[in-house]
Amino acid sequence: MSQKDTFVTEITPRSQDFSRWYLDVVRRAELADYSPVKGCMVIRPYGYAIWELIQQALDREIKRTGHVNAYFPLFIPESLLTREAEHVEGFAPQVAYVTHGGGEELEEKLIVRPTSEAIIGTMYAKWVQSWRDLPILLNQWANVVRWEKVTRPFLRTTEFLWQEGHTAHETADEAEAETRKMLDVYASLCADLLAIPVVKGIKSESEKFAGALRTYSIEALMGDGRALQAGTSHNLGQNFAKAFDIQFQARDKSLQYVWGTSWGVTTRLVGAIIMTHGDDSGLVLPPAVAPYQVVIVPIGRENWRETVLPAARRIEQQLVDAGIRVTLDERDERPGWKFSEWELRGVPLRLEIGPKDIEKSQVLLARRDSREKLGVPMDGLVTRVRELLDTIQVSLLARALQFREEHTHHAGDYETFKATMEGRPGFVVSPWCGDAECEAQIKTDTQATIRNMPLDLPSPQGQSCVRCDRPAVADAWFAKAY
Ligand SMILES: [Zn+2]
Repeated sequence: MSQKDTFVTEITPRSQDFSRWYLDVVRRAELADYSPVKGCMVIRPYGYAIWELIQQALDREIKRTGHVNAYFPLFIPESLLTREAEHVEGFAPQVAYVTHGGGEELEEKLIVRPTSEAIIGTMYAKWVQSWRDLPILLNQWANVVRWEKVTRPFLRTTEFLWQEGHTAHETADEAEAETRKMLDVYASLCADLLAIPVVKGIKSESEKFAGALRTYSIEALMGDGRALQAGTSHNLGQNFAKAFDIQFQARDKSLQYVWGTSWGVTTRLVGAIIMTHGDDSGLVLPPAVAPYQVVIVPIGRENWRETVLPAARRIEQQLVDAGIRVTLDERDERPGWKFSEWELRGVPLRLEIGPKDIEKSQVLLARRDSREKLGVPMDGLVTRVRELLDTIQVSLLARALQFREEHTHHAGDYETFKATMEGRPGFVVSPWCGDAECEAQIKTDTQATIRNMPLDLPSPQGQSCVRCDRPAVADAWFAKAY
């Protein structure tokens, strides 16, 4: 067999070894590749195209909600990171240093940004004088570096791409509203664009961002029953304002510290798409983030270039004109081989056209998600393709939501909790006392962590903690997580 014939069979079945399957899909679908630098990945064009679609949609939302983009330096003087005590403690183990530059040892070491609160806070201190300068609503698209021991493409890499929003406000209420607003933006992005349902909630003290007052997250459930933190939004309170001396003259002429927020999502979202929707044949892409929404595969005998290709090109042009992302596979390979390859790469719709279809003035459309095949007349084809893409987008979200519901359990006592948490059941929802030691003991016993505590649930009245029987403060969503 040639290498091309073995192309598809090299994917490990998802049910057999999810982790191997994931890496196979990343590699075979040409999303990313390992680089000579351990823990760093190369995002290949197909993977980068998915990221760009996420980025473009999110950038529109960030701007629609009143923010503007800016750019801050990659390097941060070491002394700035150490200003906020919790922050430095949280990030110190993961920081990469620059000690030499221009052939000389630097007087002060520089850190490669793991996140930008320190450098942005320093600049805000210069820019903010009066309440009239507030709010500051900035976002930056950037790369950050966090030295990781165990890495996995897209999910956890030493360098990754993200956006980080940083805002400064006059009042505590405004900062809290901003934090929650951006959490909602992220949740909608995941549902509407990535077809991934998420649980919005607040993090426990031990899981919050280093230096934040409180952290909110969106949590998604992957196909193997493990949770993935898909985005976070932090209310920084006045912690960074005090550390970086960001003060303003208030309306009553008193000197006040600003209230801050920061929020981010990363290239990890590409990993979330793979692990939410993929199957044994490879990637399944929601149409909204598919680099190609339709692939046209001409079918025919040796002379297909004369008999079929002109009609295929006309259809391609129609779809392009309608704003649909399409590719026409003209390579000299067997149609069956092309089918497998585009299935592996997750293209939502395959359009097959052969001599008989041309005679009947129709084409065959095959859905990647359901594998359903439909004969469709060439008349009105664009409308039908649009409808089908919408249908696929909606049904992927519905399928993922159903999977999450089937994998969300409730446990009121610890024996049930532990029994349910065996293997990878998904989420287990249980009342919790709010105590960090109790939380740590649950992790030791079961490997499960509190992913978050959803915002829209009433607090459990009169219930006791699943482990220690003290009064519960919240229903916590537990899971084994990436
Ligand atoms: Zn407890």
